[in-house]
Amino acid sequence: MPTFDHIVYETPADHVARITLNRVATRNSQDTHLLYELNDAFDAAAQDDQIKVIILAANGPHFSSGHDLRERNGADAMSNHKRVGTWCGFTCAGAESQMAREKELYIGLCERWRNIPKPTIAAVQGRCVMGGLMLIWPCDIIIASEDAQFVDMATSFGVNGVEYLAHPWEMGARKAKEFLFTCDVMSAAEAHRIGMVNHVVALAELPNFALAMAKKIATKPLFALKLAKESVNAMEDVQGRVAAMNTSFMMHQLAHTHNLKLFNMLMDPSGLPAETAKAIGLNGGKRE
Ligand code: ZN
Repeated sequence: MPTFDHIVYETPADHVARITLNRVATRNSQDTHLLYELNDAFDAAAQDDQIKVIILAANGPHFSSGHDLRERNGADAMSNHKRVGTWCGFTCAGAESQMAREKELYIGLCERWRNIPKPTIAAVQGRCVMGGLMLIWPCDIIIASEDAQFVDMATSFGVNGVEYLAHPWEMGARKAKEFLFTCDVMSAAEAHRIGMVNHVVALAELPNFALAMAKKIATKPLFALKLAKESVNAMEDVQGRVAAMNTSFMMHQLAHTHNLKLFNMLMDPSGLPAETAKAIGLNGGKRE
C-alpha cells in the first residue's frame, strides 16, 4: 500500500481504491508536493489491475481550498519530483516558467487524471474552491454532501478562470458564464440541479454513499467500464473540448502576464481578501 505525506491511500473494498486528501491544517490546499503525491496515488490505483474504481475524498470539513498561494519555492519543489509531462523551461525568465509550471502541474495533471481508464468518483464536502474544482471535475462521478459549496473567483483576480477551464462542459455555457462573471458560491443543491454533481447526500452519509456506488460499479467487468468511459469521453472530445480548454489555458497565461506587468504578480491583488493578501505577504499589489 503506497504511503504519502498529504494523501491516504486505502482499498476499503474489493477492487476499490480510495485516495483521501489529508492536509487538513490548510483545508487541503494544493502545493506542488500534494499534487505530485496525488498523481502518484492515482497512478498506483490506475496501474493496479485489481482496482476497478477509484474514490477521491478529503479529510476535514472542507474538500480543498485550492492552490496553495503561500508556496514560495514552487520551482524547487518541482525539481524534487519526477515530472509527468515533456514540457520544459521551468526555471526560465518571463512568462515561460509560469506557463511551464501550470502546463505540467495544473492542466497537465487534470487531463491525465480525466483520462484514467477506470471509473473515478469524487466525494466532496464543505468548500471546494478554484483548484478544488480541478480535482473533482476530472472525476467521472461527483457525490456532494449537503454542505458542499463550489466557487471560482478567478475573474476577481483578473484571470479568466482556473487553469483547467472545464466550466462550460460541467455546467453548460450560460451557467458557466454566470459562475465566472459573478464569482458567486454555488450550493450543492444548485450544482445538482444543473447536473454538475450526480447526488447530494447528508454529510454523515457521504463516505458510505460513495463507497456503495464504487462497490456496485466494481461488480462490472473492468474492460466494459473502461470502454464505457472512453465512449463518453470521446463524445466530449470530438465536440472540441481539448482544443477549447487549451485555448482557455493560453488566455489564462495571457492574464497572468498582463497582471505581472501591471501589478508585479500573477493576479490582480484587488480581488484578494485583505486577510489572504496579508498572509501571503502582499502590500498594495507588491510583494513585501
Ligand atoms: Zn494560473
